Amino acid sequence: MQIPFNKPFLTGKETEYIRLAVLTGKISGDGVFTEKCQRFFQEKYKFKKVLLTTSCTDALEMAAILLNIKEGDEVIAPSYAFVSTVNAFVLRGARIIFADSTAANPNMDVKSIENLISPRTKAISLIHYGGIACDMDELKKIADNKNIPVIEDAAQCIDSYYKGVPLGSLGAMSTFSFHETKNIQCGEGGMIVLNNEKHFHRAEIIREKGTNRSAFFRGEVTKYEWIDMGSSFLPSEITAAFLFAQIENLSRIQKQRKKIWELYQQLLLPLSEQGKIDMPLIPEYATNNAHLFYIICKEEDKRDKLLLHLRKNNIHAVIHYQSLHKSPYYKDKYEGGEMKWADYYSDNLLRLPMYYELKESQVEYICDKVKNFFKG
Ligand SMILES: *Cc1c(COP(=O)(O)O)cnc(C)c1O
Repeated sequence: MQIPFNKPFLTGKETEYIRLAVLTGKISGDGVFTEKCQRFFQEKYKFKKVLLTTSCTDALEMAAILLNIKEGDEVIAPSYAFVSTVNAFVLRGARIIFADSTAANPNMDVKSIENLISPRTKAISLIHYGGIACDMDELKKIADNKNIPVIEDAAQCIDSYYKGVPLGSLGAMSTFSFHETKNIQCGEGGMIVLNNEKHFHRAEIIREKGTNRSAFFRGEVTKYEWIDMGSSFLPSEITAAFLFAQIENLSRIQKQRKKIWELYQQLLLPLSEQGKIDMPLIPEYATNNAHLFYIICKEEDKRDKLLLHLRKNNIHAVIHYQSLHKSPYYKDKYEGGEMKWADYYSDNLLRLPMYYELKESQVEYICDKVKNFFKG
């Protein structure tokens, strides 16, 4: 039997809630289920304002519009990241100034940012890789000092914390993903979290095609008009209904994922002690939300051979990410220096299957095959 890299978890309530949404007769955005989801996140994580979006990618595009990013601006972002972390800003004409990762883990080296800031720097866009927090105090010291807004691409960060504070509440705004590869999911979906009241009003307009339709539906204005630039960033109630079924099971999902993660760690620890691989490092200030499990090989060739070895044994492991500053799209535009650590993780990191239904026996099987490879 094939062990896939990911298998989206279903709680069993999704179709029931979708049916309820359909029965309300209103399946466009901002209905009952959207409201329920937004309220849940606001209450559980004390996020000031949450707006569901069609994806994390779209939430990032909203963020770029909200921050008035324009041609000639610079945005600092990690090279070891997903394309969406930077695409949103490129779409508005910004130049990306890439930052390297740390030696300890794939997160952005926040200390390196000081040297990347210029008078044109308009934002810092970061990811917390695998839901493990960046050194946010250190980063905020630098960013706040220069008045540069920080956007947390918190796509992988649901239910994870930095010094006890939920990820997603540390920047000016943050974006989450509910893509089917994430801990809770609705196929395609996301949200933007606004931590500064000054963005609330305009975010609502940008999300509704640049109109004040939301205010109109609340009865605050008599007609709705074109107020600002914008797009259609709100998901349908069908999507929100699906997501709500997942939200209700968040703690159960997290508990199970952490169990799987810890089993991987326990079974692969001997390999790491023998110096064959490195394991994820979780700094003292961060929690682990068990979004993904990775190992780091000592050479690219070893990593690639291990990947093939696992495939031969019906285990689907994956390589993710590849340094963005070297990507086919950006390499000719990139003017900075080498990104030693981003390249290091691109070459040596391997993600192992990680999903709710992954059985203990399957984790044991996968770890056996990994150990087996390093014996040979
Ligand atoms: C998954 C992911 C995204 C994209 O999320 P979508 O909801 O598919 O747009 C963006 N950034 C990071 C870091 C991700 O892991």
